[in-house]
Amino acid sequence: MTPPRYVSTRHGTAPVPFREALLRGLAPDGGLYVPTIVPSLAPGWRDAPTLPDLGTRLLMPWLADEVGPDRLAALVGDALDFPIPLVPLSGGGWDGVHVLELFHGPTLSFKDVGARTMARLFGWALDGEEVTILAATSGDTGSAVADGFAGIPGVRVVLLFPEGQVSPVQRRQLVAEREGVRALAVRGTFDDCQRLVKAAFADPQGARLSSANSINIGRLLPQMLYYAWALRAMETAPLVVVPSGNLGNLTAGMLAANAGLVVRRFVAAHNANAGFAHFLGGADPSPADSVRTLSNAMDVGAPSNLERLRWLYSDGDLRRRIAGETVTDEETVQTMREVFDATGYVADPHTAVGLAAARRQRAAHPEAPAVVLSTAHPAKFPEAVQRAIGREPEAPARLAALLDAPERVETIAPDLDALRRVLSG
Ligand SMILES: *Cc1c(COP(=O)(O)O)cnc(C)c1O
Repeated sequence: MTPPRYVSTRHGTAPVPFREALLRGLAPDGGLYVPTIVPSLAPGWRDAPTLPDLGTRLLMPWLADEVGPDRLAALVGDALDFPIPLVPLSGGGWDGVHVLELFHGPTLSFKDVGARTMARLFGWALDGEEVTILAATSGDTGSAVADGFAGIPGVRVVLLFPEGQVSPVQRRQLVAEREGVRALAVRGTFDDCQRLVKAAFADPQGARLSSANSINIGRLLPQMLYYAWALRAMETAPLVVVPSGNLGNLTAGMLAANAGLVVRRFVAAHNANAGFAHFLGGADPSPADSVRTLSNAMDVGAPSNLERLRWLYSDGDLRRRIAGETVTDEETVQTMREVFDATGYVADPHTAVGLAAARRQRAAHPEAPAVVLSTAHPAKFPEAVQRAIGREPEAPARLAALLDAPERVETIAPDLDALRRVLSG
């Protein structure tokens, strides 16, 4: 079968190979790259013995013609060197709910899966050329990207994050001094950061820029892996609950379902930034200013992957296949507390938004199991965990080490000239 090529969601640029879509990030017309076809899962995918093996099998029909099977297997193996356990909850009405812990990578969020794999794909694609990776982050992207690209030759990383709007632990992870990485604290919101990145791409003024946000197709494709990893162990098609912000994770899940995974229904779990949930409920999509919440990596008012989802699927399809849920901060903390009291499980606020959404959806589908994607380690949010369960989460050793590392950060105004000065420096 011919492997996919990539076209823009906007004015229909000619199809390009993966390498070009990866290196560009954003299509020249400002759109997002989408695949022309979705290859089916290879028969026997359930038999893959390990996570990297499953990842390689899954990506083979997408990438093997360009990357080569051996190179692909090597880079996936190198990227996915941490476990992804599926933890069943039990007690207090939580039986049947499974937590897919995606946070055992180096920066303790699910973004390590996509970012680490993508960084190694960049290493292949660049082949010695130089590029600046520009990334807006509402918390977890930046550290995953910075960590993922550390040591990839030819790559310089510039991170933008909203000053004062990431948790202290997230901040430390972002500003830890790393070779080839500049962290910029922007006096504004995440949406300002994203706007600056888009504006810089629209007119790069000679700089060779690429993106590592979930607008990059190279980050989305590897994320299909853990949906397959979780579902291969399940006998009944589950509800799959995705704590959502920019909708990259959900897009990867939808692609995985198109490739052949049987999902009962996706649930897009949102905090107060719930424009997508309203859209699923029948409203017109309307970008809004982002609102600050406890689950701050999901504080996205204008999710960029909506454009991609609406290109790939009709609105009717999206509304049939995905249910939207909105969870308040109060309910988030309460869910953290209730899950801990009933089952002993310590969830971070993002995961708790997913757990609360799972509980509501299961009221309507009590027989369906649920897989809740756990997108961050609770140790990244010690204040919220303390508030919910009365004690701080245990910090893994790699976090403790990072908190002691030297830091480097510059503060800039939320305008393009300020960003340009950094890019040309
Ligand atoms: C980025 C992030 C999300 C949102 O993922 P999207 O792909 O942007 O929808 C959810 N939880 C955590 C912890 C994150 O870091």
